[in-house]
Amino acid sequence: MYRSHTCGELRIEHVGQTVTLSGWVAKRRDFGSLSFIDLRDRYGITQLSFNEEYNKDLLEQARSLGREFVIQAIGKVTERSNKNTKIPTGEVEIIVEQLNILNISLTPPFTIEEDTDGGDDIRMQYRYLDLRRDNVRQNLVLRHQVAKAVRKYLDEKEFIEVETPVLIKSTPEGARDFVVPSRMNQGQFYALPQSPQTFKQLLMVSGFDRYYQIVKCFRDEDLRADRQPEFTQIDCEMSFVEQEDILNLFEGMVQHLFKEVKGLDIGTLPRMTFDDAMRLYGNDKPDIRFGMQFQYITELTKGKNFPVFEAAETVLAICATGCATYTRKQLDELTDWVKRPQIGAKGLVYVFCNADGTYKSSVDKFYSPDDLKQWATQCNAQPGDLLLLLCGDTKAVQKQMSELRLEMGLRMGLRKKDEFKALWVIDFPLLEFDDENQRWHAMHHPFTSPKPEDIPMLDTDPGAIRANAYDMVINGVEVGGGSIRIFNKELQAKMFKILGFTEEDARYQFGFLMNAFEYGAPPHGGLAFGFDRLCSLFGGADGIRDFIAFPKNNQGRDVMIDAPSVIDDKQLKELGVNVNS
Ligand code: ASP
Repeated sequence: MYRSHTCGELRIEHVGQTVTLSGWVAKRRDFGSLSFIDLRDRYGITQLSFNEEYNKDLLEQARSLGREFVIQAIGKVTERSNKNTKIPTGEVEIIVEQLNILNISLTPPFTIEEDTDGGDDIRMQYRYLDLRRDNVRQNLVLRHQVAKAVRKYLDEKEFIEVETPVLIKSTPEGARDFVVPSRMNQGQFYALPQSPQTFKQLLMVSGFDRYYQIVKCFRDEDLRADRQPEFTQIDCEMSFVEQEDILNLFEGMVQHLFKEVKGLDIGTLPRMTFDDAMRLYGNDKPDIRFGMQFQYITELTKGKNFPVFEAAETVLAICATGCATYTRKQLDELTDWVKRPQIGAKGLVYVFCNADGTYKSSVDKFYSPDDLKQWATQCNAQPGDLLLLLCGDTKAVQKQMSELRLEMGLRMGLRKKDEFKALWVIDFPLLEFDDENQRWHAMHHPFTSPKPEDIPMLDTDPGAIRANAYDMVINGVEVGGGSIRIFNKELQAKMFKILGFTEEDARYQFGFLMNAFEYGAPPHGGLAFGFDRLCSLFGGADGIRDFIAFPKNNQGRDVMIDAPSVIDDKQLKELGVNVNS
């Protein structure tokens, strides 16, 4: 028997018992005739104690142990004189009577502690050691809990988990596909699924009624902190439902997850149309932990000969509560911030709404205190507040202001990691125009249904059509999204046509779906949640990497196994892939 208890288990009530523990040497502390070892396993840390008076040989043996040696210790649980209140086992220690080395270890390249001295690269290269760190392991435990809670909820709602294939034909969801050459069909390629979209729709045609899958998806995109080439979705689809049914059921799921995992009640989710989200926050995933909504003051600024505002399509303001105390230096810095190429504003106008009721702005040359007061009134600004103004073409300035609003939210401490505000964004446009290629793109994907009342505009004004599409947003992060699907073959064919597919293309790529729709496709719809993102949000982190056991770096590399890698000519030949020689 390797162990009678885990390293996280022993408490004061075990005092007097002889126990066997196994684990890793996390730390050793030597003092004169005494030594202590922190023995670690997944469950916690228990202190082992060695005393020269009690057993000199054992003390010497203990002092020969290096960090991360795997050992087994047998001994008596004893009450500690010097208790550690920071860990659950901190009231006891083991007076060791026998010590066995189960395996030795090289000195690890970084300290295996919450605050490690290892940088990102080295941690990723030795990820198996990194995963011994308590905080990283906790993230994966959290991930497991979220998955468990998802399955429990969906199972209770009669959903069935069905696996869909990984070697498929490409589904156009906007990103690039990863492809796999087929040896048996030379010159042909599988694609890895960007999502199981078409399969889950086919399952609805098959009558499965309620499907879900916690599933790997693959997208060959440029990477950021919250993106990985392979990531996991909670993918769901339902039949005989309208948008309302889906919103209610999955609002219930997210409430359930917060309750189970965080012990929090997040209440009902407000709903905001895409148009309102863009108008008030300049963003289709607004962070509503704080207000600071946009105010459109274009009209109030006109006719005063300030050339910049005169030329602007839109002048936008936000009110930063209590920020009239900002110094010149802070404002200069903020101005530089909005002028960075990533934001792209030409400049920043500000108005101090002073505590004494006076106004002072960076455009006093053009605007009287009365003008400024009008702006302040529209922005609902109080004495002590600061107005920040940007101007330009409406779409561009909304985007810039959205960034500035988020930045101010951050600087003002309004984006708290332990506060969660979720909402639905609904009524997305069905299509967006791609200026570069002069064609329409599906904003969600080509299977999304227009709102029935907007269908007549398909021929006249496609850009104005709203979709039965929805996103769930939490703290400014899009955690999920989906739509009611087209289930009528003619409408789907029309949609492909608008998206620029020839009939032949559509048949080649989606013939299987169109055929299936000829055999009694039920009305259906669904959505998918970004599982990694959801977990990182629950964990209060910005990136998703530490919620994935073996993630890839920003170049899409797994530096631990060193993938991707070159394969030899023989293998390439077998696959029928051209060998450069
Ligand atoms: N397949 C979609 C996605 O990956 C989600 C959905 O429409 O259900 O975003």
